[in-house]
Amino acid sequence: KSGYGRDGIYRSLRPPIVLPKEPNLSMVTFLLRNVSCYPEKPALIDADSGETLTFSQLRSTVIKLSHAFLNLGVDKNDRVLIFAPNSIRFPLCFFAVTAIGAIATTANPVYTVNELSKQLRDANPKLIVTVPELFDKVRDFNIPLIFLASKRNQQQFDLKSTPKILSFYDLVDLAGNVTEFPAVSRSVKQTDTAVLLYSSGTTGVSKGVILTHANFIAASLMVTMDQELAGDMHRVHLCVLPMFHAFGLAVIVCAQLQKGNALVSMAKFEFEMFLRNVEKYRATHLWVVPPIVLAMAKRNVVDKFDLSALKQIGSSAAPLGKDLMEECAKKFPPAAVIQGYGMTETCAFISMDSPVVGVRHTGSAGKLAPCIEAQIVGTENSKPLPPNQLGEIWVRGPNMMQGYFNNPEATKLTIDEKGWLHTGDLGYFDEDGNIYVVDRIKELIKYKGFQVFELISSMLTACSYSSSCSCIENLVEYTVPMLPAVFWFFICFINTHQVAPAELEGLLLSHPEILDAVVIPYPDAEAGEVPVAYVVRSPNGSVTEENVQNFIAKQVAPYKRLRNVTFINSVPKSVSGKILRRELIAKVGSKM
Ligand code: AMP
Repeated sequence: KSGYGRDGIYRSLRPPIVLPKEPNLSMVTFLLRNVSCYPEKPALIDADSGETLTFSQLRSTVIKLSHAFLNLGVDKNDRVLIFAPNSIRFPLCFFAVTAIGAIATTANPVYTVNELSKQLRDANPKLIVTVPELFDKVRDFNIPLIFLASKRNQQQFDLKSTPKILSFYDLVDLAGNVTEFPAVSRSVKQTDTAVLLYSSGTTGVSKGVILTHANFIAASLMVTMDQELAGDMHRVHLCVLPMFHAFGLAVIVCAQLQKGNALVSMAKFEFEMFLRNVEKYRATHLWVVPPIVLAMAKRNVVDKFDLSALKQIGSSAAPLGKDLMEECAKKFPPAAVIQGYGMTETCAFISMDSPVVGVRHTGSAGKLAPCIEAQIVGTENSKPLPPNQLGEIWVRGPNMMQGYFNNPEATKLTIDEKGWLHTGDLGYFDEDGNIYVVDRIKELIKYKGFQVFELISSMLTACSYSSSCSCIENLVEYTVPMLPAVFWFFICFINTHQVAPAELEGLLLSHPEILDAVVIPYPDAEAGEVPVAYVVRSPNGSVTEENVQNFIAKQVAPYKRLRNVTFINSVPKSVSGKILRRELIAKVGSKM
């Protein structure tokens, strides 16, 4: 029932996907293979302007652009950087670049010149596709540019003044009247690198994740398998997650277009605008991140909009607690609130709740995607663990990266010789094969030492219940002969006390007067580290530090209690929804 085998491996409980066998097959050829079945269906819609491309227009534009990139001298394996916010032109360029065997790489538009230059040094792109608004960040790199400006926007910039720059529409014109992909696209192999995505960097130095055409094909089939089972073929996805990130690119852009679903693209996130677009475009499906689920569950402004078309609210990229899942589901009764789990290194997909099988809002990230194998291994000894035991999550499957670009050491540390990708995440499976992702191992708060006193105090308490003799007599009689064992017990015990910030954050969010929260470690002379919370009160909330501490203390073991609560205005988060704990830790650290 859990998929756990005698060999210590958890296997997917879903039927396998059928992967295409042809060795020469690009992701784009595969994704667009069924377009002739629905040529006039809307594929890409710009949320702001309403500009729409049908599937046949999508295909013909990608064909033109692929010729244009070739004409510009982009060859197989050349890198092309897409440095832009979401737009309907982003996927067009992305597909065109990869269709000719070149490698698309992306970067976060909020990057500074310094951050960008690090990535450029590593990826060494031949061309940058960007928007006029980001010109200042790329102008000095001496790399030819293409501007993804809309026609209106394009007129505001004098593109002709810089010969290195071409507009998107010049690029389309450059191709002439072509109706088929260039010949080179037939030589693209599934095993060729299609995309170089730089991992989020919230956990260390950003690294280029090498993903092949086969990886994207597999991920697209995995993501949409449940749609096949659900039998609904007309989905409208609102794409508010950044397309430069694996989650937006693989789970939304590639997977949904591959299935013939419509994609409404939003350039930037603003909550009311997001709700307005869900209403306006009758969005049926959302893939978002926990902060958006939080806002949907808690903010009153939601009630101003008709969101009745919504059938599914999916969340991934960071932990989503049981209470928040339930709260959000209550607010949108016809919609299933589901959770997925993935990472850039797996094309953003490992597991997902299935609304077809029934969603229970347990805080789990669902069952393994088709064809994925996993292990939960002890963090100390790497031994495989059965259901309900916590350890590091290792995964293996057809959507796994090939390694890190120019970084064999990091690759070796992440993928072992048996092909297991060590995720660095802590989690467990339940008896039914649902995975629970607790937190990143590196984010755990390491609480040591103090439990020695707690243990003694609980022994004393236990003794005081004994009616026949005094506490001290009990201690001497029972404890002294056991001292060596007790000593070793303390040592082991000390090593195992870890607090997952995500667990406490989940509990904090279940408080009606708390809008958002983050938990971080704080140095402590006795315990090493203790958990402290930064909390955003809801608009009319009057909850105090003591209220919050008591609220948590009632629900957790003593070592997880909050030592301090500070009220703040907002929690720092990345565009992919991850809490930027390091940023806060650094700020707090600098004030110490
Ligand atoms: P990224 O490579 O930016 O997509 O980040 C991947 C990481 O996000 C994973 O290794 C997890 O730590 C985290 N993550 C993704 N989905 C979930 C989830 N459902 N619950 C908890 N953490 C998640």
